[in-house]
Parts: sequence; C-alpha cells; structure tokens
Amino acid sequence: MPHYFDNAATQPMRQCAIDAWVAAAGAVNPGAQYGSGRKARSVLDDAREKVADLLGAEPVEVIFTASGTEADNIAIQGLYAAGSTGRVVSTPIEHPAVRETVGKLGATVDLLPVGRDGHIGDLSALDTPADVATCMWANNETGAVQPVADVVERAAAVDTPVHVDAVQAAGKVPIDFHGLGAATLAASAHKFGGPRGIGLLVAKRTPAPRPVLFGGGQERGIRPGTVDVAGAAGLAAALEESVQEMDAENARVARLRDQLQEGLTRSIDDVVVNSVEPRLAGHLHLSFPGTDGDSLLLLLDQLGIEASAGSACHAGVHRMSEVLEAMGVSEHEGLGSLRFTLGRTTTQEDVDVVLRELPAVVEKARQVF
Ligand code: PLP
Repeated sequence: MPHYFDNAATQPMRQCAIDAWVAAAGAVNPGAQYGSGRKARSVLDDAREKVADLLGAEPVEVIFTASGTEADNIAIQGLYAAGSTGRVVSTPIEHPAVRETVGKLGATVDLLPVGRDGHIGDLSALDTPADVATCMWANNETGAVQPVADVVERAAAVDTPVHVDAVQAAGKVPIDFHGLGAATLAASAHKFGGPRGIGLLVAKRTPAPRPVLFGGGQERGIRPGTVDVAGAAGLAAALEESVQEMDAENARVARLRDQLQEGLTRSIDDVVVNSVEPRLAGHLHLSFPGTDGDSLLLLLDQLGIEASAGSACHAGVHRMSEVLEAMGVSEHEGLGSLRFTLGRTTTQEDVDVVLRELPAVVEKARQVF
C-alpha cells in the first residue's frame, strides 16, 4: 500500500459516497415528467437539501456543476458579465481555475498583496467598486486560510459581490454561506471524499451570475445540462460525513501533521516551512533549499511515498510555483519544495515512514542538484 500524502489533489472516495453513488447510478433524467423521472428528481432534491443545510444556504442556491473548476468559471465570468465597472479584485495565490479565468476576462485586475506567511493582508483594493472580488478560502499549496469574512465585509461596503473558492476548505472548516455573505462559493466533491466529476456552486438569488453556458435551463439556467443525480447523491453523502467528522478528524490530522513538521525540521538541515497558521489541519508545505522538487518526488515515489511537488515544471524548465513566488520566496529556497497533505486515510505508520525516509532522500537530492 502506498503512503498517500496527496489529499489536497484528491481524497480517496468515502464508502458512504460510493454507496450513495451506486444506489442512484440507475437514475434517469431528473427533469422527466413520469414516475422514474420523479424518483430521480427526489434523489436530487434530497441531495440539494442536504448540501444546503450543511453549508448554511437555501436549496435553491445550490447549483450542481461538473467540477470546482466549472463552478469557479461560472461564478467569475457570470458576476463579471453582470457588472459594469470592468474591474476585478483577486489575489496572486488563486488556483488556476480562478487565476486563468480572471486573466481571460479582459478586465482591469487588482491583486490583494500576499505576505511571506501566505496570507493576504492589505485589503484596501476592495474599497473601490468592482464587478467581482474573488478570494480563496484556503490555499491549495500551503493550506493558508484566508480572511474571507473580512474580504466580504470590506467589499460589501461598496456593493462588490464576492466569489469564494472554497474547494480546499469545504468539509474541513465550518461553512455558513448566509453568515459569510458572499455572492457565490465553489466546492468540489472529490476533495472531501465524494466522486470526481461533480462540484457545486452556491449562488445567491441576487446578485446572481449571468449565465455563461446556454442550454436547457437546468440549475436556474446558471449551469444548464442534465444533472448527474448519482454524483450529487455521492457528493451530499461525502459532505455530510466530513462535516460530522470535522472536529475529531481535524484534531487527529493536525496532530500527525505537527509530528511530521517537528520531526522533519529536527532531522533535516535548512527546512523552510511554508504552511503558516491559520492553516488547514492537513497541509504541510516544505522547502528544502539545494534540491529540486521533481528529484524529491521521484525518490519518494520509489519508496512508495506519494506527495506533491510544491513547484511546477513548464516545458522542461523547473520553476517555482506562482504561489511561492507571490509569497516572496526566493528561487533558491523554493525550487525544492514538497507538499504533504494528510487526510482521513493517513495513519501514524504513514507519518513514521516519511520521518524515517525523508532525511536520506533530501541528502541524496542535494548531492545531485
Ligand atoms: N480551486 C482550488 C483551490 C483547488 O485546489 C482546485 C483543485 O485542485 C480547484 C479549484 C479545481 O477543482 P476541480 O479539480 O474540481 O476542478
């Protein structure tokens, strides 16, 4: 069995989600006006109600999408289309699903500055009205939890609608959509143990994103297309279980993560910890100056340890991730980075194996760098 430390990329599916998914796999079109259609509709309605309840929203505000990426696109493009200023506020640490979408709008974009700790600080760009402000709840690389409530409050003062990418946060931190006051919020089932290929957008009635996809009018016309009933049932089951387990799991996972952080910083020279509180319980992003991420990953993979590189390789050229760059991390420091993301399947043994193996892996990578 591999030692899996890539829960931020995707989490193994929960048994409850598999069961719910299988039970609804034969569902027909939930829009059909006959018995089996109504049955499918009822499974979908139940899923929608459960999700709304878990996220502090109304069922009508829950829109099922095909992914977190799709939810981010629909929200940002749609809110921008509904606005008139031609201006967007974002951050330099957004996931590509947001960053690339914002970049394609043709808008004037102002980015909220990010500190070395991976948190956005100065919010003054929000004092000027914009068509949409977009800020992630928690960063996918470092796990840094962002001050989204402050962002929403500040933007609300000038009537700017806020989109929150909660793809990493959903199921890991309590979410109260109405309490937060954002216009839209994106999540994705596979990040909290649901099926891949289904996400959700929570969208207020007003201001609602203007449709950017056109079709049969499903999901308030905001995400037309036949809804994946089995996917929605699996998503709802996974979200329910992750919310029920949240406190206990966060405490367990944070304990393991802290052991990992303390052990590695003790046994390896010059480790830089890029995951700074407030952060998600399962994230540990580390840099090992004098190495490169790909070598580290390769050596770990040979040992059955599955982590993620905290840097990217573009066309054969090793580059630091844009998130680290925005945090002001130097190339020397950040090129050899690893992201360990722990989750509900992570065991003490997994952590012990990394603590035992990583010092020699880093030493080897430093020799060949
Ligand atoms: N936003 C964040 C913060 C993410 O971490 C991810 C996935 O890694 C996405 C959006 C995209 O989600 P999906 O994989 O469901 O398209």
